[in-house]
Amino acid sequence: MKALFSSLFQNIRLYRSLRFRIFLIVLLIGILPAFLMRFIMVRSYENRAMNQKISEVTNQSAIIAAHLARADYFSDTSDYVINDELTQMANLYDGRILIIDDDYLIIKDTYGKSQGKYLVSGEVISCMNGSRNMSGFDEENRYLEITVPIIGENSGELYGALVASASTDGIHANAEVLSRRARVIEVIIFVVVMVIAYALSSTLMKPFEKVIKAVDSVRQGFEPGVESIEVPDYTETKDIMDAFHHLMSRMKEVDDSRAEFVANVSHELKTPLASMKVLSDSLIEGGDSVDAETYREFMLDIAAEVDRENKIINNLLSLVKLDGTDVEDVKLELHALSPMLQQLIKTLTPLARKSGVELLYEEKAAVEAEIDETKLSLAIMNLIENSIKYNKENGWVKITLDQDLQFAVITVSDSGMGIPEESINRIYDRFYRVDKSHSREIGGTGLGLAITRNAILLHRGAIKASSILGEGTTFTVKIPLRQDI
Ligand code: ADP
Repeated sequence: MKALFSSLFQNIRLYRSLRFRIFLIVLLIGILPAFLMRFIMVRSYENRAMNQKISEVTNQSAIIAAHLARADYFSDTSDYVINDELTQMANLYDGRILIIDDDYLIIKDTYGKSQGKYLVSGEVISCMNGSRNMSGFDEENRYLEITVPIIGENSGELYGALVASASTDGIHANAEVLSRRARVIEVIIFVVVMVIAYALSSTLMKPFEKVIKAVDSVRQGFEPGVESIEVPDYTETKDIMDAFHHLMSRMKEVDDSRAEFVANVSHELKTPLASMKVLSDSLIEGGDSVDAETYREFMLDIAAEVDRENKIINNLLSLVKLDGTDVEDVKLELHALSPMLQQLIKTLTPLARKSGVELLYEEKAAVEAEIDETKLSLAIMNLIENSIKYNKENGWVKITLDQDLQFAVITVSDSGMGIPEESINRIYDRFYRVDKSHSREIGGTGLGLAITRNAILLHRGAIKASSILGEGTTFTVKIPLRQDI
């Protein structure tokens, strides 16, 4: 049973192979005409030969019928000339001749068996009534039967009928010989076509094998020369290789960016650790000579570094979580956006107050949208936080809520330092900061905008920044009101 299944499986695999299909198609195209030709040839020979035989026997029978009518055979069946003629014809066609009078009585049988009996067959009746020739073919016993009426030449009187049967064995034997010869040719054609089909399927598949080889050769990792592998034989193989190269370079990009990310992460995590190490080392080296005030100061710095480390790790975790979420997996619910924004403003007011920044809010339209509240809150929170962080003394941050066709539009503008034009497209990159040391000073991790952008993309939304250096920045966020439109 197992063997049967495995062989079936193998067969299915074989059938799915393109090479096998090409082989099969070429074989069928080559072999089918040969089969058909033999069939048609033998059939047409048989038909022709049969028709010829029918007309021959009919002619002979008509001639003899005319003799019979002339010789007055029906009153005297002992006419030996006629009887000889009948016997000769019966022998010639390897058959039998019956003469029937108008009472359906058999008056002569070349076999001598049925004389005196009656023959009332359909052919004889219709032949007598319609006075015309009839022919039939007994396929099983392989003979044909011709019935011709016997009519007086001048009187037109119907005397009876002549039934001649002739063997068709000769025709069948010839057809058999013909068929056998054709079969030999068929076998030769079959072998030749098989060889051609095999060679053709192998040749046609070569470029695909090259593709498989090329793909195989890079399965173990990126090969430096993979871009140079070309299979230009067919448009299709060229397309496959182009797509493959594209995929490879995309994978390489992903791989490079992952390596860069890991390097960045390690670097970012190491910085607070290094500070802590320096701080604690100097305390240890100082020994007893360090006074309590310095101790306290250093310990506060160490605690701040721990906070920073914690923040980086939390941001990283948020980012990884967002990265692992698909657009389809986001749980979206209809929410009024205004309460959410007001809550965010409330949460951030202490921070703004500390930095001497004023928070303003304007609701231009009451908007409800399908959102994941936690994720969108986090995104907008990062934007407001940045606007506070990168602001100036007595600056302001303004948050507006509006609706534009099918979108909710949230803007966060500030009177801050602005972002240089060359950096505006890079601020969403992980760990990118316009001014590294300043950002670090004010507790930035370089991950905030990356998190924001990911969260907005999960809502199928968009984010855009416009900024004038030294004057301020505006972030515009658009979120579809309904996700199914
Ligand atoms: P960070 O944690 O450093 O703030 P972000 O990813 O949130 O990291 O921001 C990336 C960089 O973009 C920041 O370091 C800062 O230089 C710049 N940036 C972001 N928001 C603003 C803003 N409102 N005004 C000026 N610069 C900004």
